[in-house]
Amino acid sequence: MNFEELKLAPAILKAVREEGYETPTPIQAQAIPVVLEGHDLLAGAQTGTGKTAAFTLPLLHKLAMSRSASNRFGGLGIRALVLTPTRELAAQVEESIRTYGKHLQLSSTVIFGGVGMNPQIDRIKKGVDILVATPGRLLDLSQQGFLDLSTVQVLVLDEADRMLDMGFIHDVKKVLALVPKEKQSLLFSATFSDEIRDLANGLLRNPQSIQV
Ligand code: AMP
Repeated sequence: MNFEELKLAPAILKAVREEGYETPTPIQAQAIPVVLEGHDLLAGAQTGTGKTAAFTLPLLHKLAMSRSASNRFGGLGIRALVLTPTRELAAQVEESIRTYGKHLQLSSTVIFGGVGMNPQIDRIKKGVDILVATPGRLLDLSQQGFLDLSTVQVLVLDEADRMLDMGFIHDVKKVLALVPKEKQSLLFSATFSDEIRDLANGLLRNPQSIQV
């Protein structure tokens, strides 16, 4: 299997080549076609398996191939939301989105707690295609009326088990109530407790399962 067989846009393949990646990792080879086909996904994968590119590459492809949305401020509407448990992971994921998407005309930003809200609010008002966020700050900004999640088409829960371990289950559920019911959802987790299964069952529709 090589990246060309995965039918990703040439601009994405170019960025992947520039990173020096030669072959997709197992999670990438399995997840990318599933996401491109529009299925919900339940993926069991540890850090270090290449899971970030496994959801980022097809996500970028889908957004690049479809039309942008507008938010109620007249800016770009958020079309993809990636939730992560920590700010470090959020920053890393957004960095990957920038790297793999550098030859595309898509915009992204990251929001997390522990830093000033105003720069994040200003950035979000301008609009982004892809938002990466930790649940707490996301809810804060939403409750203050600065976030419109009604245009989200793809939702990713990254490291869902850590999200629950850190006590974010209620925040995650509140976020799920703010995004449209009709969307594609991808859940990544290293482990599968009953709590994760419950969350997955509530969120995912006829998911394809992958375990690496
Ligand atoms: P992750 O599991 O997403 O944290 O990725 C782990 C590391 O693997 C990151 O440093 C990526 O840059 C790298 N990586 C991801 N996919 C590939 C690939 N197909 N070939 C080589 N390295 C990769």
